[in-house]
Amino acid sequence: MQNEFDTIIIGKGPAGVSAALYALRAGLSVLIVAKDAGALSRAHAIANYYGFEEPISGAELERRGEAQAKALGAELYTGEVLDMMFADVFHVRVKGAEGEVEFTSKSVVVAAGSVRSKAPIPGIDAYEGKGVSYCAVCDGFFYRKKNVAVLGNGAYALSEAKELLPLAAQVSICTLGEEPKVEIPAEYSVEKEKIVAIEGDGHVQKIKFASGKEIPVDGIFVAIGTASAADLARKTGAAVQSNKLAVDDKLMTTVPGLFAAGDCLGGILQVAVAVGEGAKAGLAVVEYVRKLRAKEGTAK
Ligand SMILES: Cc1cc2nc3c(=O)[nH]c(=O)nc-3n(C[C@H](O)[C@H](O)[C@H](O)COP(=O)(O)OP(=O)(O)OC[C@H]3O[C@@H](n4cnc5c(N)ncnc54)[C@H](O)[C@@H]3O)c2cc1C
Repeated sequence: MQNEFDTIIIGKGPAGVSAALYALRAGLSVLIVAKDAGALSRAHAIANYYGFEEPISGAELERRGEAQAKALGAELYTGEVLDMMFADVFHVRVKGAEGEVEFTSKSVVVAAGSVRSKAPIPGIDAYEGKGVSYCAVCDGFFYRKKNVAVLGNGAYALSEAKELLPLAAQVSICTLGEEPKVEIPAEYSVEKEKIVAIEGDGHVQKIKFASGKEIPVDGIFVAIGTASAADLARKTGAAVQSNKLAVDDKLMTTVPGLFAAGDCLGGILQVAVAVGEGAKAGLAVVEYVRKLRAKEGTAK
């Protein structure tokens, strides 16, 4: 599989596939990266989407969308997007079955749905911005030579911890009562107990575990489950408001070339809306890439 694309679409739900269809039909090279079938996998019967006299299962609708995108020439890669950054082009780092791989593209559509894994810790929200962060690359700098903890037990948590290791004095990975799903290198201390409280005096100062054990920390980075749309957008510096990506009328975020569509924008969480926004984002990507090519003198 090639590594460079005109656009990378994160998510193979209705928004991502719809965006892909418009980009593909305009001749763009498209990579869809997705870890699974998203919200549709949980929808047993969809009876309010145009064109289906009988209800269709979410799984079948997803299967048809994926097959349609593939038939038009989309590349599909199954994996978890861990990180994304912009430096001349977008760099998207993905953990797939064979390990980590990086793809690059002129544009990205975030269509990663609405799931945000919340930390099951009383009072954590009160410390957001006061020691609790959702983005190591954005906020790690504030914790130089300080003690930080990363909450989570998967590849995304380890990826965030790796970002912090060169900066912080100590990085603890707190798996919240779960076993780690990845091998954690020896340079991290691992706390497997459940957290019962975060304490501080206006700013995070310590984590308290179920056994009564406490560890002093200055910063806590939440990386539970997989990176959400907002987590990924923040890594590029895109504006996020109330955990939703901020976009203009063409569904472009505050980072040029980075678009978003579907449930990750909030509003009405329905297939019809996600498909419509996907179409809008797909068309905007086509316009963006064509302008970029014209500027670079590579117009096709
Ligand atoms: C139980 C249930 C019933 C529903 N019933 C209906 C209904 O009857 N009618 C209706 O219109 N709507 C219904 N919905 C809502 C509908 O499913 C969603 O609005 C729609 O699927 C949103 O599409 P989306 O493409 O924005 O996100 P999703 O369909 O959620 O797709 C998100 C995609 O992003 C991928 N992804 C996320 N994070 C990452 C990452 N870090 N790395 C790689 N991939 C990632 C996921 O794997 C997935 O492929 C229902 C939803 C649920 C949960």
